[in-house]
Amino acid sequence: MSPQNPDRIKIAVQKSGRLTEHSLDLLARCGLKYSKGRDQLICYGENLPIDVLLVRDDDIPGLVRDDVCDLGIVGANVLEEKRLAFAAAGDTAPFTIVRKLDFGHCRLSFAVPEDMPWQGPADLAGRRIATSYPHIVGEFLRRQGLEASVVEFSGAVEIAPKLGRADVICDLVSTGGTLRANHLREEDTILDSVSSLIQTPKTVPAGKAEWMERLKKRIDGVIQVSESKYIMLHAPRAALAEITRLLPGSEAPTVMPLEGREDKVAIHAVCRENVFWETLEELKQAGASSMLVLPVEKMLY
Ligand code: ATP
Ligand code: ZN
Repeated sequence: MSPQNPDRIKIAVQKSGRLTEHSLDLLARCGLKYSKGRDQLICYGENLPIDVLLVRDDDIPGLVRDDVCDLGIVGANVLEEKRLAFAAAGDTAPFTIVRKLDFGHCRLSFAVPEDMPWQGPADLAGRRIATSYPHIVGEFLRRQGLEASVVEFSGAVEIAPKLGRADVICDLVSTGGTLRANHLREEDTILDSVSSLIQTPKTVPAGKAEWMERLKKRIDGVIQVSESKYIMLHAPRAALAEITRLLPGSEAPTVMPLEGREDKVAIHAVCRENVFWETLEELKQAGASSMLVLPVEKMLY
């Protein structure tokens, strides 16, 4: 199949940054093999009709809106900023968020110099706020009925107070290390963000639509698998109900007889949550023995 074929799916992924490795790893775990060359703009899928476009994350919502790409993986922070920007320009349905993924967790928060007192967002009134998210911050101020000036920074927002360009910043935080290094203190959060899969809201040809659905099902499977474990153990028949209750996130375990043991059974179950040492200790207390916890490689429902 030629890469220009209109039936091939184009998915936009961040070229180089925090989301790149997670995004490409997710696609690989969905079974996609592509010809390498990270410096290139496009990676052609070799075994599935899916090509990957490597671009700046900020460009991804626009590429999906303009039908250059059918799908994209990008943080909710960028999506919300672009959604507000597109809406201001009259485009109210640029893309559809179809999945929340399990990476890229961060939050958009206000941060103030360590020596500045803070009672709450009302303290923003009359201040200069440096941010790379002018639409999100502007919308927040409007909803709070506050007047403040928004100073747009495209990067290194955390140095704005030191440079005398702003009193407060509104920026992405995950661990808080960058804020502390710049003598800033995190205050109110205005957006919790995670990477998301977006899709064009327009109708796509049937062959392509079918593959988009298959890819989404595989993504669901990959996410479930990373949170799932297969557990095997022996249990006294008398403790069956209690042990089943203790298995985290498992619906209907398989119960099997043990050769020559009337009093005990083997239980196998898929647990849709991590199985911690504490759970194994509780199971042991309830009478379980010979416990094995295994990773799950693939899952399809
Ligand atoms: P690009 O060159 O693609 O524009 P960028 O500098 O905007 O890159 P990165 O710093 O790689 O982007 O961040 C990409 C995304 O990772 C963010 O938009 C956000 O969704 C997520 N993220 C997770 N944790 C953080 C964090 N601590 N700081 C910034 N972004 C984070
Ligand atoms: Zn960016």
